[in-house]
Amino acid sequence: MSLVNMKEMLQDASKRKYAVGMFDVSDLEMIRAVAEEAESLRSPVILAALCPDVEGSRLDYWFALAQLAAKRSSAPVCIHLDHAATLDQVGRAADIGFTSVMLDASASPFGENIRRTREVVEAVRARNISVEAELGHVGSGWVGSGADGASDPDMLTEPEKVAEFVEKTGVDALAVSIGTAHGVYIKAPQLDIDRLDRITEASDIPLVLHGGSGTPEDQLSSAIAHGVCKVNIFSELIAAWNQAMLEELSKLPHMAAWPSRLRPAPDAAMREVIRKKIRFFGSAGKC
Ligand SMILES: [Zn+2]
Repeated sequence: MSLVNMKEMLQDASKRKYAVGMFDVSDLEMIRAVAEEAESLRSPVILAALCPDVEGSRLDYWFALAQLAAKRSSAPVCIHLDHAATLDQVGRAADIGFTSVMLDASASPFGENIRRTREVVEAVRARNISVEAELGHVGSGWVGSGADGASDPDMLTEPEKVAEFVEKTGVDALAVSIGTAHGVYIKAPQLDIDRLDRITEASDIPLVLHGGSGTPEDQLSSAIAHGVCKVNIFSELIAAWNQAMLEELSKLPHMAAWPSRLRPAPDAAMREVIRKKIRFFGSAGKC
């Protein structure tokens, strides 16, 4: 069993100046791909669930698969709930055995974000579960939505609020808004590395970058060099899989195809993204 909590994992990353990849995974093949590729590269990794993927009885299936993947791996694996919106969602994840949760109250006012985050920390601390929170707000950059959260200065993390937030909440990791966005970028982001430096000066809390997919490599490596030690990836993973599956489906004379015959190419495309990210983050060979 190599299931660990995120706090221990990020302490090493922070000390040795690399980032751990957190991959949002929705099903068996995604879970297997992330756990197996990380193990083959001797890398710690975070398997994360997005809330729609663990609604209702899905939670039992998803967790059983993630737990099995962690048990089979000789590399450290953290099982994390990404972007929980409520204490109830956190409680379900904690009860079944997640080792880490993120409470996202980043759209709430500062005081409310502190209060709700603190409530989660108090609820799970005794069970050795790590808590990530978000200060500032990482928006979305979906193609065609017109949304461009990355460019809204009001949504960026204010460095002068970081120490107070960390002290009052007791969180183990902090997601910061320094110019990335979730989804697919409409235009290339411009990360505010000066702001990141002021955040790292304010606190030694491990920092998390959401919206890692599509962020230019030079900016990503700069963010890691300046204190980010967890990078979240979803869109690049699923886009590679969907594109390859579209190509497989387009070759068929009819739709009565066996999934096991269709999946090898999409799964290989997804695994290639995972390997590339793990190597780029510098976590390969660290365990
Ligand atoms: Zn996110």
